Amino acid sequence: MASFEAVKNKYKSLRFNSIASSLDTLVKQAEGNEISYLQFAEILADHELGIRDENRITLNMKRAAFPMIKQLQEFDFSFQTTITKRQITSLLDFTFIDNRQNIVFIGSPGVGKTHLALSIGHQAIEAGYKVFFSTALALVESLDLAELRGELKKKINSIQKFDVIIIDELGYLPLSKKSAFNFFQLINSLYELRSIILTTNKDFTNWGDFFINENVAVPIVDRIIHRSHIFMMGGESYRLKQKLHNG
Ligand code: ADP
Ligand code: MG
Repeated sequence: MASFEAVKNKYKSLRFNSIASSLDTLVKQAEGNEISYLQFAEILADHELGIRDENRITLNMKRAAFPMIKQLQEFDFSFQTTITKRQITSLLDFTFIDNRQNIVFIGSPGVGKTHLALSIGHQAIEAGYKVFFSTALALVESLDLAELRGELKKKINSIQKFDVIIIDELGYLPLSKKSAFNFFQLINSLYELRSIILTTNKDFTNWGDFFINENVAVPIVDRIIHRSHIFMMGGESYRLKQKLHNG
């Protein structure tokens, strides 16, 4: 009969590393529970698949580059009353990603836009999607840098690999003509191919302000709001509330 080591090595050479490393335990459990051959075959496969999923999620969390983890359970919908919990949870079947729709959170600082974007992004990763987070400022800077190096296309392709692109805080900065054009290139190549979650402090009517050039603002806005779920968030700043509360 083959030794454990020999069988382990066969699994290793097949790159079934999770089966290889737990083979002893899995075999002992199967013997103890007197399960069928088919059940055992399934347990081995499930074990490998389960650990691969976990590893992929861990890797995708790293690649997402979230500045922090925010959970939906921590979001207080009794404080932020201009949107409902049901509206947000209805997005969590992720058909918006499958249908390449966008989400836009509009509202003044502190109303919870980034919190919601981050928590939806986190859950999307757990559901198996690839998510990328960036502030608008950092994104534009990296596009401008890539363009200087003659690698804008390559940069855009690397962003296109994600299913969801979170662009946080659009509107806190006026963009130069060049930057706005690079940004347009990105939005255009994501349009109807990937989902964007955008947060902004400005209403669409004011988007011309930070693109300087209205000619660029209009097609950008057009592509983002076409097929999108738009949430206008009002109310008080949660940061301010906390500050007042803590004295
Ligand atoms: P915005 O992006 O709209 O400026 P944030 O999402 O960054 O605001 O929220 C500011 C801070 O307040 C964050 O720490 C966030 O977790 C918290 N926060 C905002 N709204 C809520 C809420 N309704 N319930 C719980 N925490 C909230
Ligand atoms: Mg924010």
